[in-house]
Amino acid sequence: MTDIKDLYLNYIDGQWTTGGAGTIDVINPGTGEVLTKNAMADAADVARAIEAAKRVHLSGALTAMRPVERGRMVQAMGRYLLKHVETLAPLLTSEQGKPLWEARIEIEGAARYFEYYGNQAETVEGRSIPLGAKYYDFTSYEPFGVSGQIIPWNYPVEMTARSLSAGLATGNACVIKTPEMTPVTCYIYAHAAEAAGFPPGAVNILCGYGHEAGAALTAHPDVRQIVFTGSVATGKTIAKAAAGILAPCVLELGGKSAAIVHADADIAGFTDNVRWGIYFNAGQVCSAMSRIIVHEDRHDEVVDNITGLAKSLSVGPGLERNAFGANMGAMVSEGQRDRAVRMVAEAQAQGATVATGGRALNIPGSFLEPTVLTGVTSDMTIAQEEVFGPVVSVLKFRTEEEAIAIANGTDYGLVGGTFTADINRAMRDAQAIRAGQVFVNEWYAGGVETPFGGYGQSGYGREKGREALWNYVQTKNVAISIGGGAGRS
Ligand code: NAD
Repeated sequence: MTDIKDLYLNYIDGQWTTGGAGTIDVINPGTGEVLTKNAMADAADVARAIEAAKRVHLSGALTAMRPVERGRMVQAMGRYLLKHVETLAPLLTSEQGKPLWEARIEIEGAARYFEYYGNQAETVEGRSIPLGAKYYDFTSYEPFGVSGQIIPWNYPVEMTARSLSAGLATGNACVIKTPEMTPVTCYIYAHAAEAAGFPPGAVNILCGYGHEAGAALTAHPDVRQIVFTGSVATGKTIAKAAAGILAPCVLELGGKSAAIVHADADIAGFTDNVRWGIYFNAGQVCSAMSRIIVHEDRHDEVVDNITGLAKSLSVGPGLERNAFGANMGAMVSEGQRDRAVRMVAEAQAQGATVATGGRALNIPGSFLEPTVLTGVTSDMTIAQEEVFGPVVSVLKFRTEEEAIAIANGTDYGLVGGTFTADINRAMRDAQAIRAGQVFVNEWYAGGVETPFGGYGQSGYGREKGREALWNYVQTKNVAISIGGGAGRS
């Protein structure tokens, strides 16, 4: 087992430092016990980190080099992660709750971001714009300078990788505000940045309370770009703060995403997708398959299959779940688990049936039984609000129109899916589903290369893919008169 320190410090301007807001207990959700403590930054600490990042930006340390060199440094950070996967995975499991094999997948996924965006660094090219013989005009893309990034607790390593890799690849200096519940594994990025040769201040990693450190980060005028993943309510607070400093932001705010299962779907194949779609990371995934909208002819078969699947998962401490298999770990905290239990009870009170699960396990730690709810209708709270846990709601449809109306009948629009053997039907659904990404016959199809982000209350801006790069740069146009005098055409 990885050595765990008694106290983890923040990393500001290349120095390890305590925080002005004291410390926080980090709980191991697999045992319910205190794992360690983490230093908490206050507004003054955040300001120091921003100042350091700004200094690095203005020095040109990240922008003067050829992008290929910067890209190699970004890639080196990914390799650093892979080198440390066996020590980092138990730490991630201990603070977040996921099985060890899932922790390894998260770290490998994080490394992939550094590989991908390291590769992209030298592809951010401008263009020339014809203005006639007397001018030469071109555009170039420049980093915003200081990128402020606020990270959620569900995938602390991977979500940090997503924004940090793209931010650095485009030449921004970054200040990362890590999640209060899972701050510890994110410090790997301080070590990785040092090992890759980034100067002090280019990457700052600090934990602090959202209302204090988070709010300070999003209100500081030297932060010129913000990336946030988390709840809708906090996303709105951040959008308002960003408006105050006129900084653009990317907001990734979760969803209530639906899989439509048509009468001609391969039900065995679909069941395997449910395993990943709602029980991976104990359902704490923004793009989780939290609703299944199934044709009435296949409803009972689907419910039998997924109930069997839910019951087959062995739930317990992630450290004991080393190998890929039919198992699930803890939710991140008792608070999140109890919220999910309450939402299941409320769904029952509104007329839904618990086909399986719905109860907390009677052991220490924040475990919830894998849960299937049937008889759910769109007017129920459970069909509208994100649980962020291993709870799937099953709804029925008769016609394609009805399926689309149910799928689109929430305020969210992060992802959606359709399962059918008919390509024309799949394409009709793909056009009609209002979401930033549509999966056909495989939930979570795609990868680091494919743009990801929401419609509606799921937020705005895109992460992943080449699309995301443009969130981290601003356009500069240079218009050159090559003779002929001002104002001539
Ligand atoms: P949250 O949105 O409150 O917190 C996420 C991050 O934002 C944390 O780092 C937090 O410190 C920070 N934050 C909070 N208030 C802030 C403020 N005023 N200014 C700046 N930063 C601030 O989420 P949570 O309380 O951890 O979880 C609540 C719900 O959010 C969950 O139940 C889930 O539905 C949703 N969630 C979604 C995702 C996702 O990937 N979309 C991830 C985590 C949580």
